[in-house]
Amino acid sequence: STFAEIDLGEAVNQNIRRCKYVKPTPVQRHAIPISVAGRDLMACAQTGSGKTAAFCFPIISGIMKSGQHIQRPARGARTVYPLALILSPTRELSMQIHEEARKFAYQTGVRVVVAYGGAPINQQLRELERGVDILVATPGRLVDLLERARVSLQAIRYLTLDEADRMLDMGFEPQIRKIVEQMDMPSPGERQTMLFSATFPKEIQRMASDFLYNYIFLAV
Ligand code: AMP
Repeated sequence: STFAEIDLGEAVNQNIRRCKYVKPTPVQRHAIPISVAGRDLMACAQTGSGKTAAFCFPIISGIMKSGQHIQRPARGARTVYPLALILSPTRELSMQIHEEARKFAYQTGVRVVVAYGGAPINQQLRELERGVDILVATPGRLVDLLERARVSLQAIRYLTLDEADRMLDMGFEPQIRKIVEQMDMPSPGERQTMLFSATFPKEIQRMASDFLYNYIFLAV
């Protein structure tokens, strides 16, 4: 199978070719069609499986199809309203996801911004002020941005929890719950959620049943 068989749109397909991805990895082959079809997903996938592309392609493609990424914040507006949120446990992983997502979103008009802790917030605020469609963030820094009212999650249509088991190991569960509570309680299907985890212990199963709607379980 090839990427072109999945309806991601021409711009994303061009970026896939630019990245020299020829053949989807197993997690991509299974997760992308599920996500493009609008279903929630819980996927057991390891680092190196190609999971970043598996969640980025459908998000970028879905945002482009909606046309919502055209709006940019008014000058001087303090609060931004991302359409997609990707939560990741560490600064390093967030930076990596940001870098990849930017390549996948090249020339699509979809803007990707990253915010992580352990670094000055001001540069991140400047980037956010210019607008953000996809926000990649660590839980602690995002809670900070929410408390400062610099980010609102009212417009989130795509939520991805990456390496969810690691986030729980690091004690981020209270922050994650606080973050998800701030999203508009959408009617089923309005928000699409993807949970990626290398392991599937009880705590992750509970998160899946709390955050996902009618989800498909994928183990690769
Ligand atoms: P990840 O598991 O998302 O961290 O991806 C692991 C590595 O595989 C990254 O360097 C990706 O750029 C690369 N990669 C992901 N998907 C593909 C693909 N379909 N073909 C070739 N390389 C890929």
